[in-house]
Amino acid sequence: MTNASPLDLETAACPICGPSASASVRYDFDPYKVVACSSCGLNYLSPRLTESAILKLYKDEAYYNSNISGQGYDEYLDIGHNWEKTFTRRLKQIAPYKSSGRALDIGCGPGYFLTAAQKLGYDVYGLDPSDYIVSQAGKTWGDRIQLGTIETADYEPESFDLVVAFDTFEHIYDPKLFVKSIHRLLKPGGVLAITTPDPTSTLSKISGKNWVSFKLPEHVFYWSPATIRRVLEEEYDVLEVRSAGQYATLGFLFRRLFRLSNNPGKFLNAVIDFLNRFSIYSDNGSLTATARKK
Ligand SMILES: [Zn+2]
Repeated sequence: MTNASPLDLETAACPICGPSASASVRYDFDPYKVVACSSCGLNYLSPRLTESAILKLYKDEAYYNSNISGQGYDEYLDIGHNWEKTFTRRLKQIAPYKSSGRALDIGCGPGYFLTAAQKLGYDVYGLDPSDYIVSQAGKTWGDRIQLGTIETADYEPESFDLVVAFDTFEHIYDPKLFVKSIHRLLKPGGVLAITTPDPTSTLSKISGKNWVSFKLPEHVFYWSPATIRRVLEEEYDVLEVRSAGQYATLGFLFRRLFRLSNNPGKFLNAVIDFLNRFSIYSDNGSLTATARKK
């Protein structure tokens, strides 16, 4: 967690119900709090960092590298492979609704989704707000990967068959503008798929305040099946909402289970190195919402 100056903090309102709706505190992570809207139930961060303060954080190469290196060297090598498997699995769940065409990944990182989707026959594109990531990923993907955000990107209107936002929506400060911007880029009948942490999931309920997805200050909204339907239904037909997870090494899961530090000592490091030879699919308390443009 970063040190926030009081000047960088702001209170937020429920984007579904507006500033007149009250909210109650669920968890206090001083100076941040996860609150629940008393009208629709949406969980969100308030106070939170201002958007300009968090964008400064994301632009930092050190921030990106610390997020990666926090998972150990062997896990670093396996991350790309596991993400590709994770995205292949998610694409197979989307395929009944959209199995081909131009596909855009918002928050594409190094391009693991592009690799997975290209193998399944999609014509692939990616967008990411980090200069560092785009300069790295550009070596492989060239101008298929662009720098920017969906709200300001200059893609042709109605030019994509499929837009995905995996593990991105929880970071978005203006969720209504985000889904509206995607709507504009989708062809008639185009499909949007969002994977995001679900605060009503079993894992979230079991973990309480220690839920792995309370990642602060970055995660500013926590969407449940009911609240994500609310934010989508004006412009989309929601096709399904299902639980989601990811492939991870056993070493990563072991470290998380016992809350081990990055370097827990020689013996445990050897155990983790051994466990990292294996990966499994695990439910991480997320949901995937798939919706069709109205
Ligand atoms: Zn609300």
